[in-house]
Amino acid sequence: MKKIVVIGAGISGLSVAWKLSEKGYEVNIIEMDKFIGGLARSIKIENYFFDIGPHSFFSEDKEVFKKVMNLFEGEQGEIPYSKRIVKMMFKGKYVDYPLSAKSILVQLGILSAIMCSLSFAKSYIITSISSLFVKKTQDKNLTVKQWAIDNFGKYLYLNFFKPYTEQFWKIETSELSHRVIPSSKKLDFARTLKHLLINKYLELSKREPGKLSLVERESLPSYYPKKGYGEIANRIGKKIKSNGGKIHTSQEVNEIVLNSNNLFDVKTKDKIFSGDIVISTIPLNRVISKIKPLPETKIIQSAKKLEYLSLILLYLITNKKNVLDCQYCYFIDKPYNRITNMNSFSESLSPQDQNILAVEISCHYGSKMWKTSDEEIFSMCMQRIEKDNFIKKVDVINYKVIKVPSVYPIYRKDYEIYLRETEKYFAKIKNFYSIGRQGQFYYGDIDQMIRVGFDAADKIIRD
Ligand SMILES: Cc1cc2nc3c(=O)[nH]c(=O)nc-3n(C[C@H](O)[C@H](O)[C@H](O)COP(=O)(O)OP(=O)(O)OC[C@H]3O[C@@H](n4cnc5c(N)ncnc54)[C@H](O)[C@@H]3O)c2cc1C
Repeated sequence: MKKIVVIGAGISGLSVAWKLSEKGYEVNIIEMDKFIGGLARSIKIENYFFDIGPHSFFSEDKEVFKKVMNLFEGEQGEIPYSKRIVKMMFKGKYVDYPLSAKSILVQLGILSAIMCSLSFAKSYIITSISSLFVKKTQDKNLTVKQWAIDNFGKYLYLNFFKPYTEQFWKIETSELSHRVIPSSKKLDFARTLKHLLINKYLELSKREPGKLSLVERESLPSYYPKKGYGEIANRIGKKIKSNGGKIHTSQEVNEIVLNSNNLFDVKTKDKIFSGDIVISTIPLNRVISKIKPLPETKIIQSAKKLEYLSLILLYLITNKKNVLDCQYCYFIDKPYNRITNMNSFSESLSPQDQNILAVEISCHYGSKMWKTSDEEIFSMCMQRIEKDNFIKKVDVINYKVIKVPSVYPIYRKDYEIYLRETEKYFAKIKNFYSIGRQGQFYYGDIDQMIRVGFDAADKIIRD
């Protein structure tokens, strides 16, 4: 049987290893962190479970859904169904997230509704008339700015999409591809409106799998394990081990050596893992310079252009429960992008009388914000949180800061050129696969990453 080396024990690395180990392949997974699960891990410290932001499991992929639910077979109480309640604070009001026709027409007030509708009607008429004379440009070339104006009108672009997108990505909307807005192709005003007027679940069950928009995926039933989201990864890890696979944590891969006999040596500081097949799930801009012999400079430069946005998480441990009007809320003009009230996911993430608020700040790796000390991050966020009356400083029992370097692939307007170059290079290396959110530069959800892992395993088994 072929020897497989998987780099990264996030969900995609674990999923490919899960399926291959079931078929008897010899699998070694190498993970640099102490915990497995990657972005979907839960970090257990004392009596607390810290997730990397709010995660819940939902899927319209029947095989993936069943496999995950089977991990909890016979103990359904361990992964209860929970309805996601997500809001956004916009102009001092809680509105729906993703932005819906209802929030535009009802929650924002009469003046905003009139302005939005007039502006939308204007752009709709202009786009319709111009499409009679000029052939519509390919969707994929659109920037956020063009996409938002075409679909929602200038008023919403200036008042909502521009400030929100720029606060999150720290990049101008004219520089970003519209793909940074998940499933944006399908999130047009008319479709959103239609979706609100029909029965969500009846409609959903009739749709082709994998074709749901963000708005529709947000409506799928969602599940959250009692002991933190990372429990899904932990259970997949146990399956891999019981199939004979090995998971090596706290081992950062430094080199991937391609030998002349087509075998790979994957090197960490103190170990070498040899394999016939390597599956990498780590960021493209990092993996590229680990490959030996080094690819040509042009390829390295292309891969380095594929950047990832980083995330700082401030966890506030407090004795206040249900601090928000929802499970998590997005913000536009605050130092943070989102706050999650963890006790509305599970009461078992902290001692009974306590709660965790997860405060997220997106930033660029190595930026001033990235280098800000934990104390400064706490005091900067706390000032605002106190001012907005969520909780007071005296309500905070303790806090913790975690920084994650590669979280969101940044879809700049020209990213596809560099991605194609990099993919072309990898396609030439026999028995080397780059998969997952980081490895495919693909902004996907957990179920999609499990699918990617299963499909890669199937391809290896077939070949
Ligand atoms: C804040 C947030 C909220 C989200 N919410 C949801 C949600 O509610 N539902 C949902 O379905 N999805 C959600 N997602 C998406 C989901 O988390 C990701 O799609 C998924 O976890 C990506 O898995 P992955 O294995 O592809 O990548 P990753 O999780 O990034 O895994 C890559 C792994 O490689 C390791 N690694 C990196 N470099 C090296 C190296 N040199 N050597 C060894 N190991 C290395 C990393 O430590 C990591 O463990 C969310 C994502 C974020 C950031």
